[in-house]
Amino acid sequence: MVRAIYPGSFDPMTLGHFDIIRRASVLFDEVIMAVVGNPGKAPLLPVSERMVLIEKVVKDLKGVKVGQFQGLTVEYARQNHITVLIRGLRAISDFEAELGMAQTNKQLFPELETIFLMTKAEYSFISSSTVREIAHLGGDVHQFVPTPVNDYLNEHFSRGIK
Ligand code: ADP
Repeated sequence: MVRAIYPGSFDPMTLGHFDIIRRASVLFDEVIMAVVGNPGKAPLLPVSERMVLIEKVVKDLKGVKVGQFQGLTVEYARQNHITVLIRGLRAISDFEAELGMAQTNKQLFPELETIFLMTKAEYSFISSSTVREIAHLGGDVHQFVPTPVNDYLNEHFSRGIK
């Protein structure tokens, strides 16, 4: 049984993230979509809300679980018997950052294999940071995020952040 992890901020989850987790769920027995609570970043959504939204979006995907952690991904992977780390790639700029991270993780935990899934062209321009900016200003993001995320953002930020 191969257990994988798809870690990220997912602040908030976008259609690009959904595409990656859907495709990963076909490839591995179990995939944990793990929200990383990075204390350095000022989030739009608290970790707990991000998890609730992800749970709604992935509920019909076989073998997908939702988790969260702080700290090193390799430590979470080691403790949870995870052997595959999934990351999504959009552009060369992602690749540069991801290559360094993958090589560092390999050094820290050699049994963990990083696998990259290339984004579908139609989602390649979507990022959580763009969605955050639009939501912040009270704009419409329904083309970029799954319906539960859109509903949540409309409810909380439809007139912008006060
Ligand atoms: P992080 O802060 O860890 O980069 P993100 O939530 O921004 O977290 O992204 C999590 C993962 O999803 C990363 O591997 C990122 O490259 C990937 N990703 C983000 N947006 C997309 C997209 N539109 N298509 C495919 N992969 C994406």
